[in-house]
Amino acid sequence: MTDAAESPRTNFIRQIIEADLASGKHDRIATRFPPEPNGYLHIGHAKSIVLNFGLAQSFGGICNLRFDDTNPIKENMEFVESIKEDVRWLGFDWEDRLYFASDYFEQLYGFAVELIEKGLAYVCELNAEEMRAYRGTLTEPGKDSPYRDRSVEENLDLFKRMRAGEFPDGSRTLRARIDMASPNINLRDPVLYRIKHGVVHHQTGSAWCLYPTYDYTHPISDALEGITHSLCTLEFEDHRPLYDWCVANVSVPSKPRQIEFSRLNLEYTVMSKRRLTDLVGEGHVQGWDDPRMPTLAGLRRRGYTPASIREFCERIGVTKSDNLVEMALLESAIREDLDAKAPRRMAVLRPLKVVLTNVSENQQMEASNHPKDAAMGTRSIPFGREIYIDRTDFEEQPPKGFKRLIPGGEVRLRNAYVIRCEEVVKNEAGEILELRASVDLDTLGKNPEGRKVKGVIHWVSAEHAVSAEVRLYDRLFGVATPGAGGADYREAINPDALRVLTGCMLEPALRGAETGERFQFEREGYFVVDPDSTSEHPVFNLTVGLRDTWGKGRS
Ligand code: ATP
Ligand code: MG
Repeated sequence: MTDAAESPRTNFIRQIIEADLASGKHDRIATRFPPEPNGYLHIGHAKSIVLNFGLAQSFGGICNLRFDDTNPIKENMEFVESIKEDVRWLGFDWEDRLYFASDYFEQLYGFAVELIEKGLAYVCELNAEEMRAYRGTLTEPGKDSPYRDRSVEENLDLFKRMRAGEFPDGSRTLRARIDMASPNINLRDPVLYRIKHGVVHHQTGSAWCLYPTYDYTHPISDALEGITHSLCTLEFEDHRPLYDWCVANVSVPSKPRQIEFSRLNLEYTVMSKRRLTDLVGEGHVQGWDDPRMPTLAGLRRRGYTPASIREFCERIGVTKSDNLVEMALLESAIREDLDAKAPRRMAVLRPLKVVLTNVSENQQMEASNHPKDAAMGTRSIPFGREIYIDRTDFEEQPPKGFKRLIPGGEVRLRNAYVIRCEEVVKNEAGEILELRASVDLDTLGKNPEGRKVKGVIHWVSAEHAVSAEVRLYDRLFGVATPGAGGADYREAINPDALRVLTGCMLEPALRGAETGERFQFEREGYFVVDPDSTSEHPVFNLTVGLRDTWGKGRS
């Protein structure tokens, strides 16, 4: 990829930041990426990571990694570690600024006391159901809680005792005292603290039985870290007045600004963590890093490069309107990156043996590793009496326009000679066992006298071939918007999203390729070595085909 391709496109958030720097509102910007450690990161998170870290990078600011860990029941350290690994893999560095919202639990508690003292928060004893009934609806105002007008002293005493563990789960909450008649439901005395006994938090252990809500924690954490621009997805637009209320009413050292942008939605996949959790938990895929998953761990195992994902995130841009991005856009980003970077190799995925009747000695063929990049050098490929070609490159009854091998016809072997099919050897059931062919030994690097041979196919020497497993991946869902219109998204799972081919024959230069190494298998696509691979049993994953042929069948 060129530098120009990696240079960021402008967007409304960049313009806000430019104005804030120009006016002197900020000398240096600070952003943060705030994942909740309740799942692995997906391509939608990549959009947020590239945006937050990218802005900090291009404006000389800083970006923090902060775990939003206020809901310990669904969170764990496996998710914390995977998130750190994925952010690093994408190419970003939080330096020494790794934070947890739970780092601020003591301060958050202190700010809650401040709110109580200002008459801006109260301990409420309505249960969840009653609270819902009091909240009102979009068209009707809510009703004040009977506990709304307790004295400051009583509230302070009850809140202290909530912390001390005197009350059971659900019996009391701390609520902001804002406005039960507000047209914005988020401002109708939202809950700031809940009681949760018996959970062991991955950071704070059993120190707390009182947990702050996301809406209270997030703005204050931002303010404590000196975040200048707090970027979040559009569904938080209606929460912004509460965000502003929180930072306005407690003595935090800064006043961050929340700005919303549209989340990434991608065709042929799902992005909600609940669905991804279920896909893993119900065994529809083999894990969070299954190459069919839209997780960064899955995309990495699929062979996606960090550069291609960053480039994709730049291309989709940042706006305020919700949209659905075509999968083809992600696929073209990786295809372009790998076209430039991946060395070429020959691999026969569905082997058919061809005996070259007039060849007796082995030979070495010289082949370039990249047709457009001489710096990638050359390799030698052994050639001998028996080779494999792909079954689909031979047709006894060729359809019109078929340019590859047919009985009595000629084809060029890539990096080698022109051959002619002389005989089709079959078993009693009529299945093709092998082909016999003759080699025109005068055709190395040149056309045969007086004839034009149009087809070029790849091949591998049988004696030298490395046998491998190849996993062909396709889109996880057969429809662009799984689950649309109330359908169960599971019903749209594409049963052919994984096809496993065994006994594939690879050219020997692929022997010993290591996990994560990427290649173009000529005429097939881009492949990566899977972590399951061993020297005895190499395993390659299809990253993406050479062209956008999805839904058009193989050619
Ligand atoms: P959930 O679906 O469980 O609410 P989430 O997708 O919001 O979770 P978080 O861990 O809270 O997950 O997300 C971390 C950050 O990534 C948030 O700032 C969130 O706005 C952003 N983010 C999440 N999904 C997307 C998406 N599809 N596109 C862009 N940003 C996203
Ligand atoms: Mg979230």
